Amino acid sequence: MAIFFKQLLFISFISFAWSSFGQQVSQSNQPNILFIFSDDHATNAISAYGGIFKEIAPTPNIDRIANEGALVQNALCTNAICGPSRASILTGKYSHINGYYKNYKGGVFDNQQWTYPQALKESGYQTALVGKWHLASEPVGFDYYKYHVSRGQQGFYWNPVYNDNGDKVEEKGYATNLTTDFALDWLAGSDSNAPFCLMLQYKAPHRQWAPDTKYEKLWEDIEMPYPDNFNDAYEARERTAGNTEMTMDYFTREDMKMTPPDSLTPRQKNRWKQYGFRTNQIVSPSDSLTPQQVRQWKYQRYIKDYLATVKSVDDNVGRVLTYLDDNGLAENTIVIYASDQGFFLGEHGFFDKRFMYEESLKMPFVIRYPRKIKAGTVVTDIVSNIDFAPTLLDMAGVAIPRAVQGKSFFANLKGETPKNWRQSMYYHYYEYPFYHRVQPHYGIRNQRYKLIHFYYDIDVWELYDLQNDPNEMNNLIYDLEYADVIDELKIELYQLKNEYGNNLTLSELREISDTNFGGLESHKVN
Ligand code: CA
Repeated sequence: MAIFFKQLLFISFISFAWSSFGQQVSQSNQPNILFIFSDDHATNAISAYGGIFKEIAPTPNIDRIANEGALVQNALCTNAICGPSRASILTGKYSHINGYYKNYKGGVFDNQQWTYPQALKESGYQTALVGKWHLASEPVGFDYYKYHVSRGQQGFYWNPVYNDNGDKVEEKGYATNLTTDFALDWLAGSDSNAPFCLMLQYKAPHRQWAPDTKYEKLWEDIEMPYPDNFNDAYEARERTAGNTEMTMDYFTREDMKMTPPDSLTPRQKNRWKQYGFRTNQIVSPSDSLTPQQVRQWKYQRYIKDYLATVKSVDDNVGRVLTYLDDNGLAENTIVIYASDQGFFLGEHGFFDKRFMYEESLKMPFVIRYPRKIKAGTVVTDIVSNIDFAPTLLDMAGVAIPRAVQGKSFFANLKGETPKNWRQSMYYHYYEYPFYHRVQPHYGIRNQRYKLIHFYYDIDVWELYDLQNDPNEMNNLIYDLEYADVIDELKIELYQLKNEYGNNLTLSELREISDTNFGGLESHKVN
């Protein structure tokens, strides 16, 4: 009996030692995750994606991630606005499931729901969030967080205020540099025996586009090129693209970095700076300029500031990559650079996002993981922001809950696209009329076509042939040649709506939008 007991103890010891050993091995094999994320960064402002600024304003460090890993060409946002995109990334679910539809009025993320950082933490990851959060509720699932507060949830470019694990602290300096400092400090103090997931999320290049001092005059002596459709007249799109508050007319004096007179009180100065925001407030540097000259002046000011803030982001991505190299972390760390949606850089005469048009729909997504992804990979499959969470869990070897709506595209990144991979994606934007007066809409996009239905306040359809018309200037909805294409796309669109469980009625959607439809004042016209 005694011998038997000893044997049992011995066997137990062996199996305990084996299981501990096994766990250690599997933990050290789990990759680290460094998710670098920015706000409103258009693919057209990343040289790896090409575009008209490729030579003038290159992004060598973001490009390095793509060159040493993969560039995803069709990473599409399911609801192209800040908070909702972030909520979809964290949950792997559409807005109508995670409940975060819009930024304006009442956008608060329910932080009691499942998110992928919580899942990673539960499986042994050290987790941290640094920088922009923008979800109105406290971050859950992080060992450490330090995120921007003040100016709504936007934070400041200069001397930003952070919520540092519950304490409000003001820091001195430029936000993009500081956020990187805090991320690297956390990394340096983390436990090298457990994998980490670090979400490094920049405020830049979000409005008001304040560059670091050293980059304020970077392109002072040159005229930046204009996109082909800068002077879009919105023919056959008068009630949609032609009826917004997204044009150059809506830049404020603050956007244009104009200085208020000294004689004004602080409150008056603030009002002076916000001039341009409302209907019939046209900001101009001089009365002698024509309307077109004013538009061009605004574009130049805007695009130079925007690209200068991007330059700081790219510099800091370089700092982070160097840190990984210097600390032997490059091989076993998944590095991603992405942004919450795209942005208009003068295309259609616009700034901002929201529309299902390509410039805002497309998110940059580059990823490096030397152990599994071949250098120079280009993925053209359609993926979306609900796929990010399951992809990261898949790469980390962590189970993906059934309730997650997105699909892992890890196989696609390895050049092994599954046979049944999706051929189209479903989009839905809810916020109206504040800000920027973009009519709510939903739609479908495949590799060739895009069909959009604007229907809360108006009932308008648009069809674009992306192969023949990549700038989306010709609405083909009344072209009889495309009647069959439209019918097929409509069927597929309704199938996707059903599949993802969006059965909200028009009155429910209007309630979500919280708008008195039909009674809105007319917008700025000049
Ligand atoms: Ca954004």
